[in-house]
Amino acid sequence: YDERPWLARYAEGEPGDITPRYGDMISVLEDTCERFPESVALTYFDTEISYRELDGLADALAAHLAERGVGGGDRVALYLQNIPQFGIALLASWKIGAIVVPLNPMYRSHELTTILADAQPAAIVSSEDGWHDVLAAVLAERSVPVVLTTSELDFAGSGTAAPLRNSARRRPEETDDLVETVRAREGSEPQRARLHPDDVALLTYTSGTGGAPKGATNTHRNISFNAQAFTQRADAVGGGIVALAPLFHITGLVCQLGAVLALGGRLDLLYRFEPDTVLEVLRRRRPQYMIGPSTAYVALLDHPSASAEDFASFEQVYSGGAPLPAALVERFRSRFGLYIRNGYGLTETTATATSVPPHLEAPVDEATGTISVGIPTFNCVLRVVDDDGRDLPVGSTGEIVVEGPMVVPAYWNSPERTEEGIPRGRLRTGDVGFMDEGGWFYVVDRKKDMINASGFKVWPREVEDVLYGHPAVREVAVVGAPDAYRGETVKAYVSLVSGGRATEAELTQHCKQQLAAYKYPREIVLVDELPKTATGKILRRRLREEASDE
Ligand code: AMP
Repeated sequence: YDERPWLARYAEGEPGDITPRYGDMISVLEDTCERFPESVALTYFDTEISYRELDGLADALAAHLAERGVGGGDRVALYLQNIPQFGIALLASWKIGAIVVPLNPMYRSHELTTILADAQPAAIVSSEDGWHDVLAAVLAERSVPVVLTTSELDFAGSGTAAPLRNSARRRPEETDDLVETVRAREGSEPQRARLHPDDVALLTYTSGTGGAPKGATNTHRNISFNAQAFTQRADAVGGGIVALAPLFHITGLVCQLGAVLALGGRLDLLYRFEPDTVLEVLRRRRPQYMIGPSTAYVALLDHPSASAEDFASFEQVYSGGAPLPAALVERFRSRFGLYIRNGYGLTETTATATSVPPHLEAPVDEATGTISVGIPTFNCVLRVVDDDGRDLPVGSTGEIVVEGPMVVPAYWNSPERTEEGIPRGRLRTGDVGFMDEGGWFYVVDRKKDMINASGFKVWPREVEDVLYGHPAVREVAVVGAPDAYRGETVKAYVSLVSGGRATEAELTQHCKQQLAAYKYPREIVLVDELPKTATGKILRRRLREEASDE
């Protein structure tokens, strides 16, 4: 690993390591504001916000937060969809040295209570839709000193010059209205804490497809490094990114918002991923870059009116955060003429740890049909280790360990979890994979998702990839179901493409032809939709529970 075989994959002249110019995101923003003050930073339907405006709005909110006593190291929770206020509140918090806690707006009382108890925020910014009953009930139990509310409508359709307007809807009492506070402080003197690269910038609670949520402490170094590294690989970002991924998730935050801030590019926001709205934005804004989970591409592929023309403006398309089936890449290419590049990372690696460089295509492993997740990004080292943490040779399968300037130093409030999960700064990912001779990495599966059928180890990913190869299949999740005889057996949940026809017997036959006898699903359940997290990951855990109950 010391030789880093993947370096040979970099284009000639592309450095293996980079030295970023800035160690924190506010310095990145200031540089961009100086260079491109009038360029559009964010769009939201009719609204366009320039870098100068964005910076001014963040200054005004920063002044308000500071006056309300929020300061360096305090936590500011954001319970918001993908609306411009997310960017304003994020930058305002960073300007005063606060730590942002992005909350999934799908969270309800159980998740909110757990996370707020751990993070102890001094302020929370919420949109009205988050309010109805849920947040109000949680806040009745746990007081948060400063509560700001805003509405999607505050920005929609207001045009360039006046992005803020007040919606007439009633707000819960004793909360500050984000629009009024920002308006009242327009032109405030900029607030600027002295930021150190090792200061925590984000407290991100990991997606919760398994176990209790834990807070990863992404530092300013982590975020600004990955955002600046992005600019080396993805010039197309400057031409506009359409936000497929939610901003509360690390991929959306770093690879969309962080990337445009570093490049002076434009981010086209939509409230949340929804194929019709994505197409509307593509037709209107003609973005050049997008990154999202593979499930977003499945949904676009399935859209009856999407055409190659809609995607003609794109220079680069990336998938990350969830397994990317090789069959999906080919289908997307043949229908829209676009090649989806894979990328791999975790909340703890501040999004990207590996990606397929823009001038290359990912190889597909012959034995398993798995498409490569790419090669480690700049300054990043991936290892494959055995259960005792020893490096395994090329081609052997083991746990993936990551180190580099994008890896979080610790989990919040939990030295034990830090010691266990990030010993000596090396992140144990819990993902199982291998590296080939050329330095390409492959993620086989999550360590804990392995199915053990009479001692035969089955990785769900492999069975899923085979099922994705069937033309009628839209989405698949394979889980282990309890079995009196084998301990566990392979069970598949499948949804079909619209108009697609396949019986369970046909799908079983399709798998039998391509897989060892112990691997094909003993049971296939056809469903309309698979359950997913708000970030688009398929909730295998829920299906596993369902399979156990049955
Ligand atoms: P999160 O912290 O929510 O971003 O989830 C990280 C997990 O998503 C990783 O540990 C992987 O299991 C999975 N993941 C991310 N990217 C990929 C990829 N390209 N292929 C397969 N799994 C991925």
